[in-house]
Amino acid sequence: MRSGKQTNLRSLVSKFKREASMHGNVTIDPLASAVAVENPAIAEILDLESGELLDAATFISARRYDRLVAERVSIRESFSSKPRFGCGLCATPVYLVASHQKRFFFRHSREDGSCPSITRSELSRDEIRALKYAGQRESLAHQRIKDRIVRSLQSDRANSEILIERQWRSARDGESRRQPDVQAVTPFGRIAFEAQLSTTFLDVVTGRRSFYRDEGALLVWVMAEFEPTYRRMTTDDLLFSNNSNILVVDEETARLSEQSGVFQVRAHYRIPEIVAGELRDRWASEIVAFRDLTVDRNTQTAWFFDYNGEATRLLEDQAQLALGRDDDLRKRIIAFWMSRHQQTPEPVSREADWQGLLAELSERGVTPPRSDRYDRAVTGLMNGILSAREMRPIGWDFKSLVQVAHKVADGYPQHVLAMGFAIRAFGCAELIAAQDKSHKWEKRSMLIRAKFLGGDQGYRPDEDTLPFLKFVFPDIGSKVERFLQEKMPQANF
Ligand SMILES: [Zn+2]
Repeated sequence: MRSGKQTNLRSLVSKFKREASMHGNVTIDPLASAVAVENPAIAEILDLESGELLDAATFISARRYDRLVAERVSIRESFSSKPRFGCGLCATPVYLVASHQKRFFFRHSREDGSCPSITRSELSRDEIRALKYAGQRESLAHQRIKDRIVRSLQSDRANSEILIERQWRSARDGESRRQPDVQAVTPFGRIAFEAQLSTTFLDVVTGRRSFYRDEGALLVWVMAEFEPTYRRMTTDDLLFSNNSNILVVDEETARLSEQSGVFQVRAHYRIPEIVAGELRDRWASEIVAFRDLTVDRNTQTAWFFDYNGEATRLLEDQAQLALGRDDDLRKRIIAFWMSRHQQTPEPVSREADWQGLLAELSERGVTPPRSDRYDRAVTGLMNGILSAREMRPIGWDFKSLVQVAHKVADGYPQHVLAMGFAIRAFGCAELIAAQDKSHKWEKRSMLIRAKFLGGDQGYRPDEDTLPFLKFVFPDIGSKVERFLQEKMPQANF
């Protein structure tokens, strides 16, 4: 019986090794989009908080690889206490699994045959884990890294109570315990050190994280080595849930710790940078004092370089810069228009200036309005709104603002609504009323309002110039857009 089981396990191990060597390892660019497996067994997942059904592949591919990996760790971690997602068909809690190719899919927490989606292979993960883990713990490599961690800790007088493979009993629940590779009291308090070799399963990782967090302690994962361009899934789980930092203790750092009397580690991390307007990153590493790391018990992280903080700062700067550039372009478009002479023919260079401004708009993803003559498409729009803003006629040879209002209603019915919003926004209704001695505009505007309310398409705002309007006058543009969506949904007239 016993030998039969062992033979069975041995064949499993060799099968696993065969598979692993066949598939090799795929290392993914952290900033690339995550990829879902094709035809996943669980096509839809249920958000257990909102009750919303989500397409599994869309959920996955909408996320960046590094962020999805960090999320997968937290999905797995909240699994036993408060699962976040369930199977779309049977609502059994699900978690994210990565294939050999690092493509993602969701898997049931239990598979009892009651759900038509089958997500488990014949190989039981528990069996494999037990095998690989047991084998690993006794391996020479594991022994070596443990020794180096101990040597490093012992060389630094700031550390005490260094224990090797001794039980850590929960202070809250005596039944609950873990056995970290090494534990010590450090300047950060009591810390459990675990050596991560090539294959620590995700639920082992997350189970320990929860345990030490609940203890108010910290678990620090240490690797024997790290190669950025060759990363296994288990490494990525640690990396991206640790602010993109990996800590290595090797022979060189152990020796340095002994020489300096300060516990040193090698930190590998990503440095974000903006290249041609886009976030990129590069790998770096540095030997640093352990006590200089930033640790956080709540997130169970210990890192040297603040990747998330730095990336966020860069992206915010980038957004600010874009806003500043938009604002500058907006001012130049308005300045161009303010200095334009409607009645006198303008030199060719003016048209070139205008085309240059429109080209800049295109670069920002704003589709400029089309017209046969260079400025015709926005003449009524710009003259009308700027006249309201300046409270005097702009672009046209009129005496009063009320003449501008009539002109827009006569010649540019598609911009009447924008003009109306501008009159209100710039507070010139009273001025127009005062200039409207014959009450012609008063009557006309009531008529126009009635037509709008009746769904008349005659004054339908022009969608061709809407992107331009939204860029140059964002407040007015978004009001026009909302009106089009809510009050005039009958498009294609
Ligand atoms: Zn199911």
